[in-house]
Amino acid sequence: MIPVCEPFLNGNELKYVQDAINSNWISSSGKYVEEFEKRFSNYIGAKYTTLTTSGTAALHLALKAIGIKEGDEVIVPSFTMISCAFAVCYCGAKPVFVDCDRETWTINPSLIEEKISAKTKAIMVVHIYGHPCDMDPIFEIANKYNLLIVEDAAEALGSQYKGKKCGSLGDISCFSFFANKMITSGEGGAVVTNRKEFYDKCRYFKNLCFPLDKPRIFLHDEIGFNYRMTNVQAAILLAQLEKIEIYINLRREHAIMYNERLKDIKGITLPCEKEWAFNSYWMYSILIEDDFNLTRDQLMQKLKEKGIDSRPFFIGMHRQKSLKDFGCDCSGNYPVTDEISERGLYLPSSSGLKVEEIDYICDVIRKFSESY
Ligand SMILES: *Cc1c(COP(=O)(O)O)cnc(C)c1O
Repeated sequence: MIPVCEPFLNGNELKYVQDAINSNWISSSGKYVEEFEKRFSNYIGAKYTTLTTSGTAALHLALKAIGIKEGDEVIVPSFTMISCAFAVCYCGAKPVFVDCDRETWTINPSLIEEKISAKTKAIMVVHIYGHPCDMDPIFEIANKYNLLIVEDAAEALGSQYKGKKCGSLGDISCFSFFANKMITSGEGGAVVTNRKEFYDKCRYFKNLCFPLDKPRIFLHDEIGFNYRMTNVQAAILLAQLEKIEIYINLRREHAIMYNERLKDIKGITLPCEKEWAFNSYWMYSILIEDDFNLTRDQLMQKLKEKGIDSRPFFIGMHRQKSLKDFGCDCSGNYPVTDEISERGLYLPSSSGLKVEEIDYICDVIRKFSESY
């Protein structure tokens, strides 16, 4: 089976892990945590990074840090991973959904304003499958209504909007280092920000609200969390960061090869890259339109029989029982989300994918497009 995505651990990972173990620093104190946080801030072009146990934890921490609380509302795209909406719920606030754009699959800026109420505190933007959101109109809305922008850049490490890296655009942003992400520590995440007060809040809430200036005194003024990443994970992650440009180039090369081989097959919509965007192509994603010979689900089944793994797109937030039960308004229409979640799939996208594998996958898809 050609997997959809697997880690690519071909650098200093083992060496740094060995060093972390030899030094006996295996908890969340240690030089790899500090070194990674410093170098990651530099890479993104922001002042502060704090590592967390996961991307979901990073989203929760970011929302806590900017003060999201019970009674608040946060705008969240209807087409995204569940973590975005869950993180808002963890704060006791309500996610309010906005449909996405048919081309970029990211939040549609022209639909945001009608969802803003007196309770709205922030807009969470999610760069989907490597393509950045159209930020300028979103900045305008955020300014007009005095809202904060939380960026979920978990799928867009290395992507750019108008020459600036995703994760450096909003007031606070989040990354995931799960095994299928651009760089990985197995599980892990990070919050990035330019604002010292948000950074301090992140460090405070992530460490059980121990006082920042007296970390060894057992006095806790608020309820906090343990979201600390270990030095062993950070050792793997630092080795991964050293190779990030290689990984991004590989994914972009693979996307170009896929595009080249699939572009003239009827009924397939290829991923887009707007003129203002630099798409990292974290996951190579396509839509199966009506004039293809098979439905998306039929194609996925056929691919599986040929040893090719794939994944369907996310299912809309308005379709989630968990969110309905939590009291989110799921009554509106989200036609683009519903449509692409039925039509979309992503193909094998590992950095370590081979050209022969891309050839094989595209040949198989072409055959299925012709033989029915
Ligand atoms: C992966 C991902 C997350 C969650 O990250 P975890 O590390 O798995 O918790 C959040 N948002 C998006 C858009 C993601 O793709």
